[in-house]
Amino acid sequence: MSLQDQLPQITQGAVAWAQAHAARIAKDGESLSPKLIGLAKKVGVLQPELIRILRVPTVPFPEEPMLREAARQTGLVDGETAGLTLGHGIYVVSRHETVRLLSHEFRHVHQYEAHGGIAGFLEAYLRQIVAVGYSDAPLEIDARRHERTRC
Ligand SMILES: [Zn+2]
Repeated sequence: MSLQDQLPQITQGAVAWAQAHAARIAKDGESLSPKLIGLAKKVGVLQPELIRILRVPTVPFPEEPMLREAARQTGLVDGETAGLTLGHGIYVVSRHETVRLLSHEFRHVHQYEAHGGIAGFLEAYLRQIVAVGYSDAPLEIDARRHERTRC
């Protein structure tokens, strides 16, 4: 079965995984400094005060085999992943933390807000990634276009 055929099931699993991790980040993450609130607003975030960042040594990877395989095949999460945004929660690998990375992840927060939350965003995002790949997904292109090198 192709990833395309498995997409509804993959999306369902990804949403559950993302919601659980978003809850963990909401509980254990840190809120933004005033400077970073300003950066988040500049890239379009409506509710930057809801953002929490959890700094981690590596971004967690889904354990469920089909999700793992989908994440690997699409390049969505791999050993090199420096940041991952799940709703208003952001995992950041401490040694890779830069203004550029944060502005990129904040733009994904804006996208989650625009899609009405985790399920709405992931449905669109995973559909794009399966169709054209991670680098060419319009939501990734949009996030790259909003990267900034300073607050
Ligand atoms: Zn991205």
